[in-house]
Amino acid sequence: MFDTLSDRLTSVLKNLRGKGKLSDADIDATCREIRIALLEADVALPVVRSFIAQIKERAKGAEVSQALNPAQQVVKIVNEELVAILGGETRRLNLAKTPPTVIMLAGLQGAGKTTLAGKLAKHLAGQNHTPLLVACDLQRPNAVNQLQVVGQRAGVPVFAPEPGNGVGDPVAVARLAIEEARKSQHDLVIVDTAGRLGVDEELMKQAADIRDAVQPDEVLFVVDAMIGQDAVSTATAFQEGVGFTGVVLTKLDGDARGGAALSVREVTGQPIMYASNGEKLEDFDVFHPDRMASRILGMGDVLTLIEQAEQVFDAQEAEKQAQKLGAGELTLEDFLQQMMAVRKMGPIANLLGMLPGAGQMKDAIAQVDEKQLDRVQAIIRGMTPAERADPKIINASRRQRIAKGSGVAISEINNLVNRFFDAKKMMQQMAGRFGIGGGSATRG
Ligand code: GDP
Repeated sequence: MFDTLSDRLTSVLKNLRGKGKLSDADIDATCREIRIALLEADVALPVVRSFIAQIKERAKGAEVSQALNPAQQVVKIVNEELVAILGGETRRLNLAKTPPTVIMLAGLQGAGKTTLAGKLAKHLAGQNHTPLLVACDLQRPNAVNQLQVVGQRAGVPVFAPEPGNGVGDPVAVARLAIEEARKSQHDLVIVDTAGRLGVDEELMKQAADIRDAVQPDEVLFVVDAMIGQDAVSTATAFQEGVGFTGVVLTKLDGDARGGAALSVREVTGQPIMYASNGEKLEDFDVFHPDRMASRILGMGDVLTLIEQAEQVFDAQEAEKQAQKLGAGELTLEDFLQQMMAVRKMGPIANLLGMLPGAGQMKDAIAQVDEKQLDRVQAIIRGMTPAERADPKIINASRRQRIAKGSGVAISEINNLVNRFFDAKKMMQQMAGRFGIGGGSATRG
């Protein structure tokens, strides 16, 4: 997602570097390149036009800055305009004054509504809300069941029609669900609705009827980022037919060119609130326009990375590890724990992709093999606590046993153990130099 656009913009802006002063011709040429990059990324034409006009005006309007050279100035303007086009401030959820807050999901079939319902429920439950998922997609065979599965994974209850209890009538189900939420003190209700393959009147009417019945605080339009330009027409149709207060982009992990993300908000005026980037429950993020813009400009998404790290980071534990490291006491058990903590933040390739300059490391990132990491974890798990604590005791017969237990070749075990000793030695040297850790460290 955004890779091509990001590559193009980065190289256009790189061409400006080293120029002491930018002529109008330089700016025109740069804007032409940016325009092509945006069009190739499938951004809607009116959006491209206003974006370019804005950049040109500001770049030529000599916003002189002492701190930045002319090229940096243009990068700053492009960045700010990208943030603006993506919606400016991060938009938070509107909560109802009297609970429950009702969130209704709308969108085409296959957009990812049901999947998103689970992700959103899990995300909000993690913020001390007590959501109730409501199955109002009674059209698609299996949709109710799918929501139940998703709800179970998210650990969030699902309200679904039962015989004699609104079967076949999504509006009735929605009403009953709100009553149930009040009774059982759920402070949030997420209503999954039916989609169709294309926009049609019946679909819009059903969504509008549900909307009228539940009076949602938020209607989120869920749209598959891979549908490109169609996202704009679909969004417009939903805006007219149902109306919505926010947008959720799904399938950002696909090889979409990103045009949808850059167009939908500008065309509908409604903010993008969440982004879904995979099929798993945790492949989900609050959408931050500023972070997305710096990602597009190849500045990485260090803020998201930091936030994810904070969620799994345990300061006390880290201090303990640093002490052990300095004292040369790091064990394979510690290594396993650390690896699991990092992997909790998501696939390693995703994490690397958020680093500045990730665009240039694409090939290396593509080679990151999660399975290899799985194997390393399996090997360590195959060891006894004594072996993990002191890998020196892992002799030939132990190696054979571990290889058999974890289903890998003995050579892989040799490799891991050797690398562990090398790494330990290196870390001890570094710790010594920086004065980290146990009593043995040198200080002042
Ligand atoms: P609905 O018809 O709108 O409820 O769509 P679903 O939630 O059933 O999703 C349709 C398909 O898209 C399913 O196979 C999902 O697993 C998949 N899907 C949903 N969100 C994402 C995403 O962010 N990335 C990817 N790759 N697949 C997704």
